[in-house]
Formats: sequence, structure tokens, C-alpha cells
Amino acid sequence: MSYQVLYRTYRPSKFSEVVGQEYIIKILKNAIKSNKIAHAYLFAGPRGTGKTTIAKLFAKAINCDDFKEEACEKCNNCLALKENNHPDIIELDAASNNGVDNIREIVEQVNYAPILGKYKVYIIDEAHMLSDSAFNALLKTLEEPPKHVIFILATTDPEKIIPTVQSRCQRFNFSKINKYHMKKKMIEILKNEGLEYDEEAIEEVAVMAEGGMRDALSILEQMLSYNEKGVYKEDVLKVFGLSSIDEKIKILKEIHQGNIAQAINHLRDIYQNGGDLKHLTIDLLEVIKEALIFSDDGQEKLLNKLSSIQAQELLNIANIKQLLNDIDCLKDVLVNSRFNQNFLSYLELAFIKMANQTEIKQEKEIKTTQKETVKQTSTIKEKAEEIKKEVVQEVKEDLDYIASLLLSAKKSEKEHDAIIYNRLELYKNEVDKRKLYELLIDTELFASNKDAIVVLADKAQANIINSKDVKDELYDFLIKEFSINKIIYALDKNKRKEVIEIYHKLANEKKASSPVVEKPEIKKEMTNEEKLKELFGDSLKVE
Ligand SMILES: [Zn+2]
Repeated sequence: MSYQVLYRTYRPSKFSEVVGQEYIIKILKNAIKSNKIAHAYLFAGPRGTGKTTIAKLFAKAINCDDFKEEACEKCNNCLALKENNHPDIIELDAASNNGVDNIREIVEQVNYAPILGKYKVYIIDEAHMLSDSAFNALLKTLEEPPKHVIFILATTDPEKIIPTVQSRCQRFNFSKINKYHMKKKMIEILKNEGLEYDEEAIEEVAVMAEGGMRDALSILEQMLSYNEKGVYKEDVLKVFGLSSIDEKIKILKEIHQGNIAQAINHLRDIYQNGGDLKHLTIDLLEVIKEALIFSDDGQEKLLNKLSSIQAQELLNIANIKQLLNDIDCLKDVLVNSRFNQNFLSYLELAFIKMANQTEIKQEKEIKTTQKETVKQTSTIKEKAEEIKKEVVQEVKEDLDYIASLLLSAKKSEKEHDAIIYNRLELYKNEVDKRKLYELLIDTELFASNKDAIVVLADKAQANIINSKDVKDELYDFLIKEFSINKIIYALDKNKRKEVIEIYHKLANEKKASSPVVEKPEIKKEMTNEEKLKELFGDSLKVE
């Protein structure tokens, strides 16, 4: 049998077969039984959580001639639906039919009575993709719908649906399906197909699917086309380029023991072998989280992925503050690469930041006083507070600095520097310089003076650009590619107003002036030997 069809074969044909969303189903059933059916529903929630499936089951149930807890499967309505041939149940995929014309067509038809059933049901999938004019065309019908018409809007992005439409719908929030239920369903299907599996493999698949049943089944299909006997952990790791727990601990060790080049090589290997970096990032976060939990109570029973030995191993190489910093860095990767682009680049930057935190910590530890030792015993919560304070302080100083740069900003300088953005696309496909494209592409030129350029960016992105290594790298890039001898400073978009306020204050104090911008030495091209040395240290030297 071909496994391309697992999802379709096991698509629920009854409410009782749906995984998760029990409350929604209960409310919908009660509405049918008590004959209190709304005219418009909004099904909102992540992909693969059953929105369309439940919409179809609901459409079937309200048209069934003999609905009890489930549709009867025998009446004309049920039979027509089974053949996918019910004239009154109309599905529209807004992703491909998002125009006002498609909606007008629907609106014109709503006044005709249903042909076979009691209700005409319009299921609009990916409803957030409808254009504004399409929504407005729909709105009039939603305001005064004919009695026999029901709309079900399904969407992964409810905030994009205009409020006037939202307010006319009864809304249901679909939640991600929990791992336990997903695993149970997968095992049920595999058993039914007479296939083998091991629990750990199913666990990995459930993690990868992130609460979406459809994704889980399509991963299973992929695994079965790789090995038709069943689903095994080894195969899952291989096919998805996932790494074992030990390998993840090894990467964290490399980062925290100063072998950053090794860690990055390790990462690139995983990437080149087709590894899923998002999954790796989530796993690293899980591993660190478990080590932190273990540090707090020292009990193995709260650990899912790590053994107590592995948790202790991690705590030996990094302290709690470092691990909390790791979490911040890795979380930024997930935020920044939400469109699944530039993952490698962001993850490499995160590794560098994680390693730098280690260095700072080590320097501090050299100067350690007894006070520090007392501090070590403070709780994780206190540490987190401490870090938060430091971060707040840092940002505040930056804002003052950036505001003072604005004092000498000039329009002519900004116009000149716009060349960087005009040419940025050219670097998109250059292996060496792609990273610089990635760093700046989502930023916006804000102001320039003769020594500095201020760009606007998301908070996480601004932090990356402002880290010393990246800043130096960008400086190098500007000089070599554009002959622009300036430092780039990134400003968190949300702090723009604040900075302008500080700027006005400074401008009123007449003595204030822009600071002298310190620039790094210009790096000369490295020879191959130097590159090797940077990557591998002196260990390659032949004596
Ligand atoms: Zn029926």
C-alpha cells in the first residue's frame, strides 16, 4: 500500500474519531440538539488541528435527517456527502480565491434555498487571506443572513480578519493537539495497518508535528516510504537529520568550553546532512530547560529527555546564568526565523552570543569575591531578575547613545547611505556575503551622520546587530563594498519614539554634541593558513 494517503484515509468521518477539541465538539453537538445554530462561525487555531475537519462534520451533522450523537450515514444528505457530492455544502479556499468576485458569487447564491439539505453551508478555509473588499462584500450577508445559510470561516490567523466580521461570528479557538493524544492516534493507525514502531520514534514525530495532527501523519507517511516495515527511531533521526541527546550536549559543551569554531562546524555538518535546524533549536531549549529544572530540585522524575547524569553533565559546564542566557539566545532564533529563512545564520550568531557570555562570565569569575559565592546559592528566579535588570540598563544606555548620534545626523548623509539598501539584494546569492544581506534585509535606514548609521530593527535583530562581532563584521563590509567608513547601530523599532524624545531633550541642552564613534581596525584578508589556525588552533601545525 502506498502511504501517501494516510491523512485522507484516517480523516475522521465521525465526531468520535476526532483527536482533541472535545469541548468544541460538545458545544457544537449541543447547538444541533437544541436547535440553536449560529449563522456564522469562526474556527481559529494552528494548522492541522482539525478546523476544516470539524467544519465538514458539523455541516454534515446539521443536514443529516436523523442526527443523534453522530450523523446517521444513511440519509440522502449523508450519502451525498460520502460521495463528496453535496450540492449545499460549498468549500472555498480563500488562499486561491481571495478576490471580491469569488465572494460576490457566493453572496448572489445565498438567497436560493438549499437543494438537498436544510442548510447551505459555506466553509471558507484560510479565511484571513480574503481581501478587504471581499470581506466587505461578505459583511452585508453576515449582517442579515438568510435563515438557511451558515458560514464557517476557518483561519490560522484570526487577527487578520476585520473586527466587524469577527464580531458577527461565534468564535472557537482550536488548540494544538497534545502530544499524548497525537501519539495514541499514531499508534492506533500503525497497529491498524499492521506496522511496527518504537515508542521513541513516535515521540520524535509528535515533537516535530508541534501539535498538528496533519503534520504528524504526513511525517509518518514520509517515514513509511523510507522503511515500509515500520517507524523506528534510528530512521527518524536519519531522515530528519536529527541528533541524539548526547550530540546536543556535546554541542553545548563545545560552545561553553571555548570551542566555538568546532560547535559551528558541528552545526554546519548537521545542516549539510539535511538536519532540521528548527527542531534542533527546540531540542536544545528542551535540554537546557531540563537541566535548569534538575538544578532546582535534583530529582530525575521531572526529566523527560535527559538522564540525571546528562543533566549534571550540563550543569558542570555552564552555570545557571549562562543557561538562562542560552535560552534567551535560542529563543531569539525562533522568533527571528519564524519564516524559516536564515536559520543557519541566526543559529550561528546565537552560538557566538552564547559563547561570549561564557567568556564574560569567566573574566568575572577571575575577579570573584566571596560575595559571588554567596550569590551562587540564590534561586533561579533571583538570577533571572538580575539578568533582566542588566539588560534593561544596557538598553537604556544604548538609547542615550543613539539619541546623541542623531544630534549630528544629516539628510545628505542618509541619502548617500541609502546605496547600501539599494544594493543589498545583490548579496542575496553570494555565499560569502549572504549573511550580511540577511542581517540588514529586514532593517530600515533611520538616520546617518558622518561616522555612524542608525537602522531600525526588531528587538532581537537589533541585539544581534549591536553585538560586537557582528558590528565589526558589518563595518568591514561597509568599507570594502561601499567605501563607507561608518559604524551601524541598530535601534529597536519600538524604542523609536523614546529615542526621539531623548534627542529633543539633548538638542535643548545647547552643550550636547554627538560622541566620537570608535571604529575597529580594518581587518586585512586572511591567508588560508590563518583561516585554518582560526578554526582549529595550533593543533594542525606540522613540526
Ligand atoms: Zn444522515
